[in-house]
Amino acid sequence: TMAQSKSLLVLENFIGGKFVPCSSYIDSYNPSTGDVYCKVPDSGKEEVEAAVKAAKDAFPVWSSKSPLERSQILNKLADLIEQDLEAFAQAESKDQGKTITFARTVDIPRAVYNFRFFASSILHHVTECTEMATMGCVHYTSRTPVGVAGLISPWNLPLYLLTWKIAPAIACGNTVVAKPSEMTSVTAWMMCKLLEKAGVPHGVVNVVFGKGAKAGEALVCHPDVPLISFTGSTLTAQRITEKSAPHCKRLSLELGGKNPAIIFDDADLKQCIPTTVRSSFANQGEICLCTSRIFVQRGIYSEFLKRFVAEAKKWKTGNPSDPTVNMGALISKEHLEKVRNYVKKAQTEGAKILCGEEVDSLALPPGNQKGYFMLPTVITEVKDESCCMQEEIFGPVTCVVAFDTEEEVIKRANGVKYGLAATVWSSNVGRVHRVAHRLQSGLVWTNCWLVRDLNLPFGGMKASGIGREGAKDSYEFFTEVKTITIKH
Ligand code: ADP
Repeated sequence: TMAQSKSLLVLENFIGGKFVPCSSYIDSYNPSTGDVYCKVPDSGKEEVEAAVKAAKDAFPVWSSKSPLERSQILNKLADLIEQDLEAFAQAESKDQGKTITFARTVDIPRAVYNFRFFASSILHHVTECTEMATMGCVHYTSRTPVGVAGLISPWNLPLYLLTWKIAPAIACGNTVVAKPSEMTSVTAWMMCKLLEKAGVPHGVVNVVFGKGAKAGEALVCHPDVPLISFTGSTLTAQRITEKSAPHCKRLSLELGGKNPAIIFDDADLKQCIPTTVRSSFANQGEICLCTSRIFVQRGIYSEFLKRFVAEAKKWKTGNPSDPTVNMGALISKEHLEKVRNYVKKAQTEGAKILCGEEVDSLALPPGNQKGYFMLPTVITEVKDESCCMQEEIFGPVTCVVAFDTEEEVIKRANGVKYGLAATVWSSNVGRVHRVAHRLQSGLVWTNCWLVRDLNLPFGGMKASGIGREGAKDSYEFFTEVKTITIKH
């Protein structure tokens, strides 16, 4: 009805510094109520074409600005987002289903920091130089921006991961066309409203909203976009790799994980248990870095299990805007169904569900009855070959199993197709080093989780991705290098 459509939030694409309406729209749901509350442009080739053209036109001026000029603009943008932190946090929570607390303390502060971090790091890069005295030559490298960067981001950490791409791309002097997930587009649209005030010239940042198969693929296939930075599923990455192959595009792919936590019998359980509950269920388990396979050494297995389940049961699931809630809603009805099916499958295979889905009941406030909620779920007595131990579930489900030896656990931890993040808990420094060294994983956290220094490489091995991002790595990815030889 008219009354309904009037109250809906309607997003527009942001192309060449202007908001432009689209001819058709996609419904976007509030995951905590199940209501449609927003219309997202269903962009296609035409919109992508216009955005790429705007980005191409803006490139000569933007790429010739000094790093300091670009840095000042990025810092201004960071300040503007920070000034609106609460509005961004509310919007992210409503759009994604995550708790307001997580959005306030993780998503939006990190989006702000992404701009500040790359505003700073871009000022400090040095290139290489070698001397070849016998030839009377010096060689040096110079780095220049690549051109129009295509950025495709997922729905789990919408503004956080989008800005993790936009910030380094534009800091290096590229212009961008970004396509956020069609399920979580609101905060990207809000950010567009601040670009002009921050001093970002028209056409430097363009955002095209829409579906992956349509808008995303048009971007991947566009001949004038030489570089794609993608975060999402391994399956989509395969498709992007295929589609971009004829153009020899440069790809950075941040994909899924099936992250192990390895807990030795000398671990400090007081630290380990709350952190491992958090690493399993933070953001509803919808973070590629979340733990989903917990290997516990036999000697402490039953004690760990008892305390871990007790701690997981303390987590409150409910209305994301309640600041006391630990877990909000999952992204969509379909995703909730998919996650639940993993739990059902485990049960039919003879695994034991210790808490959560299937065994405990979830009481929701009246307004959230149709939301996509489930409880933190702990599964045990599950085989390493089971799909729950092999596939990325991307929800609040974690498996706990026992192990005996170091040698054995390394082999089992490495026995999946993914290799993104691992956690090792032990007070034996030698063991921590040995195990960390042998894990097939782009990141290894010992005695902690999710502590990041953005200076250092981030990314996965095996099916978890290709390429790394971070201060130096992003600089290298978003620039083209040239070796110049001077003979005197
Ligand atoms: P998930 O399975 O977690 O939803 P996806 O990999 O499907 O993750 O989505 C991540 C991002 O990739 C989203 O912005 C989505 O729209 C986009 N995407 C999906 N399919 C394609 C595709 N074929 N080409 C380009 N982008 C895509």
